[in-house]
Amino acid sequence: MNEPMNELRRDPLSGNWIIIGERIGGKRPFQYEKCPFCPGQEDQTPPPIYTRTDNGSWLVRVVPDRFPVLQIEGDLNKYGVDMYDRMDGIGAHEIIIESPDHKATLGTLSVRNIAFLLETWQQRILDLKKDKRFSYILVFRNQGPGTGVFTAHPYSQVVATPFIPTVVKPNLKSMKRYFELKERCILCDSIAQVRRSGDRIIAQTKNFISIAPFASQSMYETMILPLCHSYEFECDNTWERLEELARLLKRVVGAIESLMLENPSHTLVIHTSPNLDSDNDTEGQWKTLKQDFHWFIRIMPHPNPMSGFERGTGISTNIMSPEKATLLLREKLATIPIDID
Ligand SMILES: [Zn+2]
Ligand SMILES: [Zn+2]
Repeated sequence: MNEPMNELRRDPLSGNWIIIGERIGGKRPFQYEKCPFCPGQEDQTPPPIYTRTDNGSWLVRVVPDRFPVLQIEGDLNKYGVDMYDRMDGIGAHEIIIESPDHKATLGTLSVRNIAFLLETWQQRILDLKKDKRFSYILVFRNQGPGTGVFTAHPYSQVVATPFIPTVVKPNLKSMKRYFELKERCILCDSIAQVRRSGDRIIAQTKNFISIAPFASQSMYETMILPLCHSYEFECDNTWERLEELARLLKRVVGAIESLMLENPSHTLVIHTSPNLDSDNDTEGQWKTLKQDFHWFIRIMPHPNPMSGFERGTGISTNIMSPEKATLLLREKLATIPIDID
């Protein structure tokens, strides 16, 4: 595949990096007769980077994306073009096939399978963070129609970027600013606050909590966080904790899925710390990151496609308060066994 490499250009107004390339966006020349992620179709994907097997057959497989938005080989080649900044589209783009079961969702996968999936996400983040070209490793998954998925088969994506992605940057800045002001972690404080008021706690386990954010952007938006301060999702990796987190994730997403049967589409994003070993941190901006950053998982249902108002203004509109969403989610969770497999 000697396709031309995508290019990264920085928008001087927003400061955000944009990926520009003609083959981005659905130009997938491979028309599969069968789902390429199903068992028996393994030769339809590039050779796996990582495979997690259980009882002799694979449970989770990681393969490079056939049409990556960023490619792994090469140097960043940063340079200015007059007043502008650009670099080569270097990065990593991997697909995580989450289960052999084509019809599974995050709410129906077994706890064991989800724990393997969490472990796989962690392994890929740890591995990609060894590459000093990468500033950030973003793990996300889309589920349901209208989210850009090209098969119903459950899969997630890992993208390693030589810059901090737009979705992460404001959080990092707020956490840093709050710490500078108070010398405390903003999310540790938020957890303490929500535990005092109690009105936005969706579920709680020994080590994790699931809450509705104070200003949730969409119906049933949910955050899952470790109760104790921890800045790296990928290092929270004892099997006991992975199983506990998997069970909580399954129950919470299962509750969201059954409340939104009409349109179950949602996006899940892992927010973990940037790559502290990256060569790109020239400003030394992450000096207090271990204290100020707290990892979390964000689940954002999107029952309606982004309206013109939201696109034009960047202002989200949400028809259900997080307090009401919490009550409905708790009610639904009461019907799902706490020790579900
Ligand atoms: Zn499939
Ligand atoms: Zn914290």
